[in-house]
Amino acid sequence: MRGSWIAVNNWLVRHARRRVSPAHLLVLLPRCLQRTGCGQDVVADLEACRRCGQCDLAVLIRLRAETGVRFHVAGGGRAALALTRRTDVRAVVACACEKELLEGICAAFPKPVLAISNETPEGLCRNTRVATERLYEAIRAMIRT
Ligand code: SF4
Repeated sequence: MRGSWIAVNNWLVRHARRRVSPAHLLVLLPRCLQRTGCGQDVVADLEACRRCGQCDLAVLIRLRAETGVRFHVAGGGRAALALTRRTDVRAVVACACEKELLEGICAAFPKPVLAISNETPEGLCRNTRVATERLYEAIRAMIRT
């Protein structure tokens, strides 16, 4: 059911074609993308990642450089919501589990949120993955070039 609501949201966001400049797009990532046991404080600053390649954050940092948009690893739902409410954030591409995505879409309204579900090969909240090509496509769909 949540997946259906997210699909409807994404359809509406894509068809509204409200593109923003890269500086006004926020890409929100869940903390569980970070490899368990990695001690780098990527929540404070994604630059802390040492690009060892054990999780998808290494690839996502390259994506950030390529697209020029802001990436942030959220420490929790409240922190994520505070980021989406910043006045300089006009649109969001969010990656998370379906429950958090749906909550985030509602909380960020009326700002458009293009939502990408993360993959959970080891169960919820642990060493999750994201299809980076889907995230890249979502970013390209939301920014003016
Ligand atoms: S790529 Fe390596 S250093 Fe970066 S967050 Fe993942 S495990 Fe940590």
